[in-house]
Amino acid sequence: MRRYFFFILLGTSLTGAAPGPKPHPQIAGVVSEISAQKIEASIRKLVSFGTRHTLSDTTSEAHGIGAARRWLQAEFERYAKDSGGRLEVTMDEFTQPPGERNPQPVQVVNVVATLPGEQAEARDRIYVVSGHYDSRVSDPMNATADAPGANDDASGVAAVLEMARVMSKRKWDATLVFMAVAGEEQGLFGSTHWAKMAQEKNWNVAGMITNDIIGSSHADDGKIDDQHVRLFAEGVPPLQEMPAKWRQQTKTGGENDSPARELARFIKTTGERYVPGMTVNIIYRKDRYLRGGDHSPFLEAGFAAVRLTEPNENFKHQHQDVREEEGVQYGDLPEFDDFAYIAQVARINAASLGALALAPAAPAGVEMETKELTNDTTLHWQENREPDLAGYEVLWRETTSPFWQHELSTGQVTRFTVPRISKDNFLFGVAAVDQDGNRSPAVYPAPSAK
Ligand SMILES: [Zn+2]
Repeated sequence: MRRYFFFILLGTSLTGAAPGPKPHPQIAGVVSEISAQKIEASIRKLVSFGTRHTLSDTTSEAHGIGAARRWLQAEFERYAKDSGGRLEVTMDEFTQPPGERNPQPVQVVNVVATLPGEQAEARDRIYVVSGHYDSRVSDPMNATADAPGANDDASGVAAVLEMARVMSKRKWDATLVFMAVAGEEQGLFGSTHWAKMAQEKNWNVAGMITNDIIGSSHADDGKIDDQHVRLFAEGVPPLQEMPAKWRQQTKTGGENDSPARELARFIKTTGERYVPGMTVNIIYRKDRYLRGGDHSPFLEAGFAAVRLTEPNENFKHQHQDVREEEGVQYGDLPEFDDFAYIAQVARINAASLGALALAPAAPAGVEMETKELTNDTTLHWQENREPDLAGYEVLWRETTSPFWQHELSTGQVTRFTVPRISKDNFLFGVAAVDQDGNRSPAVYPAPSAK
């Protein structure tokens, strides 16, 4: 009896932490089913094609990028069978005109597996997760030398395959797109093609995660860190001409509340809740210093997109000819991958994508009321019509804090006042919540004309 009483106390007041939403059993199931062994097998298979250079052989069944993509297609199709035919596999093929890193036109193929959402009102909302299956050595034009690309980026592709395998057996409200793209190393060809197509077709890509170099927990100085992953998230893009939406965002101090950074906060909170022991380090930058990846074209197309990468890159194992020099092994070999670590990063992805695809859409038309000068804060937004909607939450934090500090449930309303908390002193966001407690990412309010 005494012990029971103590437990209750510990569980409620002594920790001081606000109770987070309960883990969703379907997401917990996905996280526990992700297998490091399956990821290792996929990486070793991808490495076995010798090179996956975008300009490499496409006709051999055992060697080059053509064999690699046919294997990827067959893998996705296997999962499609297990999904009861719900997972749809397509080869998104196009001709890339000649450019700096492809003197001849080249056929580029993205291998894409789409799991349509089960809820009619949410099916148009799409979340994309990607890795790039092409690889390279020291010379970006060398299409014949062995380019194992075990980390860059078989690690990301293997994680995407594993997510597709586990998540496609289950049902989600919104649509999930699992993508292995090509042409990354030659100039982001595959991701650019798909992101532009999505923009032209007006698809609602509500979030995108690219996994690129998530393979190693060993730093070049020998330190081991298998408990962190870097999440790169852009704020306001450095455009020559600032569009009105970004001007409005910066005018009100919202430079850290771009959709990509709201997505990053969501991934950190969700990933860390479902994968204990892992920390997601958000970096307020589009990518590593002056470098790029497959999330870049999605950002340029106006979608919220972020990049996951291991904590410490080893440049002896990246974009290098496989060789030994003065007793040092160079090259992107599978022996430098940590398959258990990659599985942890895949779990962070899967938990986040699952939570996004079960949650309602982030509220639209979120505005801060500014007509009257007051020390209260009033926000309004458009009604969300998804059938499982429970209501909304208003979140806020100090302007110097990176993460939400306070939240209030509003119930089923589309206008809410937080009394005695001034918009002058805090940053606000509004999220939508469903009946199971799944919460959308937050939306930064635009100042209302009214
Ligand atoms: Zn890469």
